[in-house]
Amino acid sequence: MPCAELIAELKGILPPKSVLSEPSELLIYESDAFTAAKARPLAVLFPTSTEQVVAVVKILARRDIQIVPRGAGTGLAGGCVAFENGVIISTTRMNRILKIDLENRCALVEAGVRNTQLSDAVALLPGGGAFHFAPDPSSQRTSSIGGNAATNAGGIHTLKDFASSNHILGIEMVLADGQVLEAGGKDGCCESAGLDLPGLICGSEGTLGIITKLWVRLAPKASAFRTILSTFSNTADACEAVGDVIAAGMLPAAMEMLDGRMVRTVEDAFHLGLPGEAQALVVTEIDGIDALLDEQMNEIAEISRRPNAISVEMSADPAVRATLWKARKSAFGAIGRVSHCYCTQDACVSRSMLAAVLRRIDGIGKSHGVDITTLVHAADGNIHPIFLYDDRDESRVQNTLAAVDEVLKYCVEISGTATGEHGIGLEKLHLMPFMFDRATLVQFHRVKESFDPQGRINAGKLIAADTIDVSVRKPGRHVPQ
Ligand SMILES: Cc1cc2nc3c(=O)[nH]c(=O)nc-3n(C[C@H](O)[C@H](O)[C@H](O)COP(=O)(O)OP(=O)(O)OC[C@H]3O[C@@H](n4cnc5c(N)ncnc54)[C@H](O)[C@@H]3O)c2cc1C
Repeated sequence: MPCAELIAELKGILPPKSVLSEPSELLIYESDAFTAAKARPLAVLFPTSTEQVVAVVKILARRDIQIVPRGAGTGLAGGCVAFENGVIISTTRMNRILKIDLENRCALVEAGVRNTQLSDAVALLPGGGAFHFAPDPSSQRTSSIGGNAATNAGGIHTLKDFASSNHILGIEMVLADGQVLEAGGKDGCCESAGLDLPGLICGSEGTLGIITKLWVRLAPKASAFRTILSTFSNTADACEAVGDVIAAGMLPAAMEMLDGRMVRTVEDAFHLGLPGEAQALVVTEIDGIDALLDEQMNEIAEISRRPNAISVEMSADPAVRATLWKARKSAFGAIGRVSHCYCTQDACVSRSMLAAVLRRIDGIGKSHGVDITTLVHAADGNIHPIFLYDDRDESRVQNTLAAVDEVLKYCVEISGTATGEHGIGLEKLHLMPFMFDRATLVQFHRVKESFDPQGRINAGKLIAADTIDVSVRKPGRHVPQ
């Protein structure tokens, strides 16, 4: 087995303790946060510079070994699972902020820098309190900016601030043969000449290369806010209120919805005083110029009351606003109390279809005997049905996976997508032919081939690879090795 020789060669070029290869060390790298699919990598590497990434990529290329880029491992689609004794290259030790340039409103960071690490560092600079790195997936304290770019992560504020790709100006990426690609603008220059390669790399889920550095945009931070919390006796009324706010021409910073089951789960766990009859809860945040916000807040409250809200509360006071956000922010913590395992799904539909989709999810859950509770980034139609299951019972796992498929296919059928922000990874690979026509899939393959002709970087994720049979539907869900 040439493995020992390979490990020794990798150890020779990386700093001490930067190569993991013992089974016990590899355990937590068998999956990302989509824990339904697991496979043990051959090794996990922690380079600290682009040069080291280049060196290890060249070694692995020579031996024709699969490479899986990994950031913080918070991905929810299995994008970090290593097939076929692949080697994971983790960017967590490439975590230096190399430049913050307030004049040009940009920063240069290594790929492993965390979202909040950058915003916190910006805030410490004179005048920096006015800026931040806007993408805010709920994982933002942990997830890496390289991972955000690779998945084109969204978050609570996507409606107003857009997804990660809108905040990435330039990318340095190591290609499958060890070449270093520098794409896009530097020093805040909004490069628009040539093909938009950063746009192509964002959302490519680690299939085109290993992102090592990023030029990112620093956005002005809002300083005045209002929060409105409404509860409703049915989800259709809540969806109507969401649609009416947007149709009235307002652009809330966030509009988050919890279904009735989630409201009850949160209430049982944290006793926030939410109405017992609530079948939906909507928390809306607006920000902008202080003097204009009260009028908008009252208009949103008025719109919410129209479709029979049970309660509408609102505030400008930071402490009260924090309590209005509490139900939404506590949702995932509460779920942990009621289910052994859960699988968070991620579909996107047009806002006008939200009520129909929530009804259908309810029906699918009942027909498969699966409990589903749903959280929605409502203003942008990004639905997170959360499937509660117990992985110790294989029949329940299979029912859950069947219910997941039915929900996602329904969303695609009504012109939505099977993912709004988490990506395809390996988990949704089988749904690609439902979402895209043949011509589009062929172009995806050609793009992949042009970056990685040997199919060595994260093959079998996002874009199907002929040689790899990925199925997370098999009992045990261990993927090919
Ligand atoms: C509690 C929780 C909440 C979440 N909330 C949100 C949310 O609100 N919005 C959202 O969009 N997502 C959310 N996610 C999913 C996840 O956090 C995001 O997709 C995040 O951007 C992944 O970053 P990461 O560093 O953890 O990437 P990883 O999980 O390490 O990797 C994700 C994918 O990106 C690729 N990748 C990572 N780094 C690189 C790199 N340097 N170069 C090339 N490819 C790379 C990997 O190969 C993989 O395919 C959440 C996850 C959790 C666990």
